[in-house]
Amino acid sequence: MAVKKWVYLFEEGNKDQKDLLGGKGANLAEMTNLGLPVPPGFIITTQACNAFSAGGKFPPGLMKQVTAALKRVEKETGKSFGDPTNPLLVSVRSGAKFSMPGMMDTVLNLGLNDETLRGIIELTGNARFAYDAYRRFVMMFSDIVLDLDRHHFEQMLDDMKRRLGVKLDTEVGADALVQLVARYRAFFRKTMGYDFPGDPLQQLEMAIRAVFNSWNNKRAVDYRNYHKIPHDLGTAVSVQTMVFGNMGEDSGTGVAFTRDVATGEKVIYGEYLMNAQGEDVVAGVRTPIKISELGKQNPRIYKQFLAIATKIERHYRDAMDIEFTIERGKLWILQCRVGKRTAAAAVKIAVDMAGERLITRREALLRVDANQINQLLLPGFDSKAMEEAAKSGRLLARGLNASPGAATGIAVFDADRAEELGKNGKAVILVRPETTPDDVHGMLASKGILTARGGATSHAAVVARGLGLPCVAGAEGIAVDERRRQFTVDGRVIKEGDEISIHGTTGEVFAGAIKTIEPKLEENEDLRALLEWADKERRLGVWANADYPRDAQRARAFGAEGIGLCRTEHMFMEAERLPIVQKMILAETPAKRRKYLDRLLPFQRGDFEGIFEAMDGLPVVIRLIDPPLHEFLPNRLELVEQAATLRAESPTSRKLKSLEKMLAAVEGMAEMNPMLGLRGCRLSIIMPEIVEMQTRAIMEAACRCKKRGVDVHVKIMIPLVGHVNELKFVRDRLEPVAKQVMQEQGIDADYRFGTMIEIPRAAITAGEIAAIAEFFSFGTNDLTQTTFGFSRDDAEGKFLLKYVEDKILPVNPFQTLDRDGVGELVRMAVERGRAANPNLELGICGEHGGDPESIFFCHQVGLDYVSASPFRVPVARLAAAQAGLSDTAFKDK
Ligand code: PEP
Ligand code: MG
Repeated sequence: MAVKKWVYLFEEGNKDQKDLLGGKGANLAEMTNLGLPVPPGFIITTQACNAFSAGGKFPPGLMKQVTAALKRVEKETGKSFGDPTNPLLVSVRSGAKFSMPGMMDTVLNLGLNDETLRGIIELTGNARFAYDAYRRFVMMFSDIVLDLDRHHFEQMLDDMKRRLGVKLDTEVGADALVQLVARYRAFFRKTMGYDFPGDPLQQLEMAIRAVFNSWNNKRAVDYRNYHKIPHDLGTAVSVQTMVFGNMGEDSGTGVAFTRDVATGEKVIYGEYLMNAQGEDVVAGVRTPIKISELGKQNPRIYKQFLAIATKIERHYRDAMDIEFTIERGKLWILQCRVGKRTAAAAVKIAVDMAGERLITRREALLRVDANQINQLLLPGFDSKAMEEAAKSGRLLARGLNASPGAATGIAVFDADRAEELGKNGKAVILVRPETTPDDVHGMLASKGILTARGGATSHAAVVARGLGLPCVAGAEGIAVDERRRQFTVDGRVIKEGDEISIHGTTGEVFAGAIKTIEPKLEENEDLRALLEWADKERRLGVWANADYPRDAQRARAFGAEGIGLCRTEHMFMEAERLPIVQKMILAETPAKRRKYLDRLLPFQRGDFEGIFEAMDGLPVVIRLIDPPLHEFLPNRLELVEQAATLRAESPTSRKLKSLEKMLAAVEGMAEMNPMLGLRGCRLSIIMPEIVEMQTRAIMEAACRCKKRGVDVHVKIMIPLVGHVNELKFVRDRLEPVAKQVMQEQGIDADYRFGTMIEIPRAAITAGEIAAIAEFFSFGTNDLTQTTFGFSRDDAEGKFLLKYVEDKILPVNPFQTLDRDGVGELVRMAVERGRAANPNLELGICGEHGGDPESIFFCHQVGLDYVSASPFRVPVARLAAAQAGLSDTAFKDK
């Protein structure tokens, strides 16, 4: 059987072989073939790594191919491995298909031993340099190959510097380095029980083995888990002739990007150090110099570097990250890869490159990670101001980054006060141990939310995300004292009225104000251009979930083409309404209930008018009341406590009577599984008066707006239908209300009735349901809960994390749609629904509507639109275009 090819010389590969040669190796090969000055070398394939991992030993023929490749490199360089007169030294680096920065390791100066060291001294005439290289090699090799921690060696170097009374490594002279090397090796012998390996070929073999093994070290495995990189790719190993940037003042080393990867600007961006090795630039011992300075220091090399950088960028058609070394006045390119960039830079570079005709507009669209652009539009802190705040000790605590964005305001400790101050125009941060529905009116009036307890699915987190408010939840070490209206952290006290700043994107909490920046889409020309190109490439409509006129306006400014979900119950939570809502719920007869509903009607109508105005000319889907009624009532335990106190203190008070009445109602309404209980259309069937009022409010608002010249298209959505008869029952009650309102108002309005598909039975019987629904909207939050049989709050809080960690599930299905299960139900409902009613309009309004991967799926199954929260509308526009391009991608290339 022929032995596999495990080893490729640089000139044998190319950039499209990342699977086999790793990203680094493939680019070294490509640059070599481009004629760039790359130090010669070879690559051991990822397949060799995988064969090693599977069999626990090198695959047959590997070392033979390695020595053959070495011979070729020796020939090219005129040096030879282990030769004391002209020794070849190499670097050994890992390089997987995807770059995993800092996750695996590099050994430099391999090939050094007592004999080759003498050769280096003779050739360079620089004993200090040679011993420094040797010292570094012993340290790196021991650390990376033999797990002998480098800090032992660093300690010895520090001791030496102290004894010499010097600060910088470069001030340690040759004699001292000779001693240090001797000390390193003695330490090695003592700890390992054998001599430091001197045979270069043995060193190489051990280093290759170590790189292979590093693929499965904990850091690498964790990194891959986090970045969803498959574990079976393996790493390649590149072995490359060493060039030295520390051979004197005519040598140096640096890293540069072909464009500014922070802003995207078209300027070379990077830094370098003369007389230094790569690790010195990173280690921060000496301050590197801006690359533009090289133009003054060494114009010849700088010009050559610029020409190479341009060539590399044009060739790769992307902003590249280039590592280089200057060895005694000669420039060498050691590595290039696609430069990692900020979201802002990604957008600017893509748009600029399309303008320069380096890439097509379609390629530009595919270059930007849709998820990343979300952060460009959220309010944030000025990064300098944030750094300064941290430096001056104002960082109070860290919590969960529960809802992105940033805000500064005064700390307020109860919802009523937050509402009062907020309505008076004060910027308020509501600080609570944790929030409940009772706090919503205060949250609405706040700029941000901070809680001491609770996780990603706590009430605070979920509501804040829905409202687009920044939220830090479960902030560590914060003790909230509601009675004294203050919180303490690390002995510091923050009182009501003190200014604090929270960063929901990072989870940080600061004392005092930090300058906030609120980006606007119309001011970001590049993003706007990119999204306009996206709009031309997408088939899917992009709508928004918005409950308030201000959300609707924001969504529209971000490019939403309709409202896909207006959750009306949020409107019930506001301060002046909640007491009426509670009385309505507690009413003993439908007639009494109607009385309170009549009082609620003008509020709801006002809300709807605001939304219709904001969405003039666009469709608005309004969902009738969905949650179980107990969510509008006070917490049972708190009522029990208050009643107990009153019974002791004033047993005959009226307050106690009403409290007991409330308690009885709350207890009467308690359910074992409220998520599966009396909610959605079930509630509308038991208490139709509520949705009759809502329908009246919607239609009155529609007619009034229309009279004012607003173009209204309203879609009334009935939630949680599982059986066609439920929908039929509710629609039959509501249709006459709609008609009656139009008659009263003397004007017709464009309205439709439709339903959510969020129960598996509804998906399965979608054909029957479509016969009496004009539209479907997939409520994939509930559909995921009911398909998996998970209660979201319990699952995310208790076991989902472990499921994902242990790969029982690939991802959290509440974030990214589960194609095989939930997705199949969606597909089935689309097919059956459309077959029964070809005019059926199909959308999605679960949180998946803002997730790029799920949007891809929605495109594939043929939905008409996705609906996302306002801040994710730009994400959805780009993701929908990328999905569209997957059908046609690169046809125009
Ligand atoms: C859903 O279930 O997907 C949905 C949008 O409704 P809610 O999240 O309000 O239950
Ligand atoms: Mg739902």
